Amino acid sequence: MAPILMPPGHDEFPDGLPPTVTKREVIGAQVRAGEKRYEELLARMTPARREAYLALFNCHEGDGCGPLTGRFRTNGIGAPGDYKFMDWPGEAGKFSFVADDISRANHSCRPNAHPHFDYELFATVLRAVRPIQAGEEICISYVRRGVDNYEERKKSLAPYGFECSCPSCVDHVASDARRAIIATFNNPEPVNRNPYYHIKRNLWKVSLIQEEGLEELTDYLSLHHHLRMGYRMMGDNVKAAEVRKREDQLNWVKFNKPALKELF
Ligand SMILES: [Zn+2]
Repeated sequence: MAPILMPPGHDEFPDGLPPTVTKREVIGAQVRAGEKRYEELLARMTPARREAYLALFNCHEGDGCGPLTGRFRTNGIGAPGDYKFMDWPGEAGKFSFVADDISRANHSCRPNAHPHFDYELFATVLRAVRPIQAGEEICISYVRRGVDNYEERKKSLAPYGFECSCPSCVDHVASDARRAIIATFNNPEPVNRNPYYHIKRNLWKVSLIQEEGLEELTDYLSLHHHLRMGYRMMGDNVKAAEVRKREDQLNWVKFNKPALKELF
């Protein structure tokens, strides 16, 4: 686990950043500092771990970043939450992790598994987001914003040097239309006074996400919560318990723990 970007080495700018410095020069210094830091990290690993790291694929060859940085960028998975190494804007300053087996998982825009870094265990956990058939490939998403459309995903995946051929990319017109609707699900609708309508609406949202293979979205978990509230209002405890079970599974996927117990 290491920061996504390192600050430039002190020896590069001993008197601080000069006012004439260009963005390009700063990035170059950050990349050099990163490579040096990865060398230090690697030197502390056992020979077997070092070999495993060096056996990972590097899709950044020839773009200016060193071989260790290239491997980190190719195989790194963004750590969850807002833990930051430096108070830099956006993703910079955050951490990324590389895992032996999990980093080797291929990409799908319809991932059937989700990697989660558990800060309490300081370990990476990979869980299925939906049932996986025997022999089916386990895929994760390399795209940070799961609901991105075809063009946005193509741009995010370009540095990896492959074109995705998952069903959502092949039939991207229909997929983009579904994704545009799914992107609005992060605005939860107030629980309607009519629980029948509420349940029907949430069931439809859940099935649309399933159709698009985006069960790893946090909104999918929230929808289950809303659905359960609807069943409770109807007094259907059997259905509510069923949804609760699925909610627990999804909590394990996203947070590596069951949903919080409720007192009522
Ligand atoms: Zn795809």
